[in-house]
Amino acid sequence: MGSVSVLSRLRRAWSSLSMRGLDASDRTESRAVMGANNFYILTALANLPWAIVIMAHNSWTFVLPGVTHLAMIAVWVTALVVNKRGYTPWMSALSIVAAIAQYTFLTDVFSRSAGFQFALFGMPALAFAMFVRRHGRFRAAMILLATILAVWVYLDGAFANPWVPVSDTWLHWSAAMMVVSVMILLMSQAAFADYYFNRERKRNSALLAEARIAAHTDALTHLLNRRGISPCLDEATEAGQFCVALADLDRFKRVNDVLGHGAGDVVLASVAATLEDSIGGLGSVARWGGEEFLIVMPGLSLADGEAALERARIDLEERFREDLEGSSVTMSVGVIAAPQDAARDEVLRQVDAKLYEAKASGRNMVVAGALA
Ligand code: GH3
Ligand code: MG
Ligand code: MG
Repeated sequence: MGSVSVLSRLRRAWSSLSMRGLDASDRTESRAVMGANNFYILTALANLPWAIVIMAHNSWTFVLPGVTHLAMIAVWVTALVVNKRGYTPWMSALSIVAAIAQYTFLTDVFSRSAGFQFALFGMPALAFAMFVRRHGRFRAAMILLATILAVWVYLDGAFANPWVPVSDTWLHWSAAMMVVSVMILLMSQAAFADYYFNRERKRNSALLAEARIAAHTDALTHLLNRRGISPCLDEATEAGQFCVALADLDRFKRVNDVLGHGAGDVVLASVAATLEDSIGGLGSVARWGGEEFLIVMPGLSLADGEAALERARIDLEERFREDLEGSSVTMSVGVIAAPQDAARDEVLRQVDAKLYEAKASGRNMVVAGALA
């Protein structure tokens, strides 16, 4: 139990450090900020023991390389602190330059047999993790600098011999440990890129799902909108006979005039809910326009479609008779029953004509007919 909570506390501490400055940065920079923070934490921790080993290698007689190693770690910790205020490419550049300089210096002091130059091979991966695309020049400069120094280390004979007496065993262990360090550095960069890619993919698919719903939904009534009902219409025409109804609220301008546009909106949302309750089970209800609703009912005969809309009309009348004393809210409805594969434009044209008939015949009624 105890070890689990220590582990989870460590993980939380790590992720809070690694997320430092994300709020202060724009989204395109968040990968660079997290990549840099992760690098600072991981390498600062891993390099502290190295600083001691380097200072101790010769009975503490030549501590300068260890001291500069600590200075490099101090630059990273400073960069971690600075990152809290947002992404600073110059700070990332300084951190990488500090690493490049220190590892070249260590190679000079201990010779290339000690393997410190291997660290330079990890710099291109770091440059990609720590800079955003917009700062491609920083990336290029860091990669170029690391490459030049790595090549120089192998061309210049001065890097063949150590400045200080150092045993072969020490050199072999140092080189082996450097190989492990660089492997860990590259692996951690690749793992971070993989983690970040998956995180973004999940976030994007969630956003896409939200956007899809928003694109098919009416914001005021939460019914389907025109785009949302369109596939329902297509499916209904393919599945067999079906009914389509168009409902328009009666004298709705008056409701707006008397109660105000805001209250009109509330009434519209409430009408939508009533329609959905009355006929939602038989098909799909959409907000077709301002105060017009389209209802698609697959598989329904003319008689059933007309009966369903008649029930909905009465439900609406009763719902508002209780609510808005005086100002009634009613609707006129046109219903068309159509055979399989009927042309949808023709169905919509004829249902509109039926609605017009209902309006012309005194409103608050359902006028139904088969597709002519
Ligand atoms: P009719 O019985 O002939 O349909 O009369 P009407 O007053 O309903 O006339 P019409 O259908 O031409 O006008 C629709 C009115 O609905 C106009 C507009 O003020 C109102 N309306 C449309 N969309 C909205 C909306 O989103 N909110 C509110 N509050 N009113 C809307
Ligand atoms: Mg109207
Ligand atoms: Mg209208």
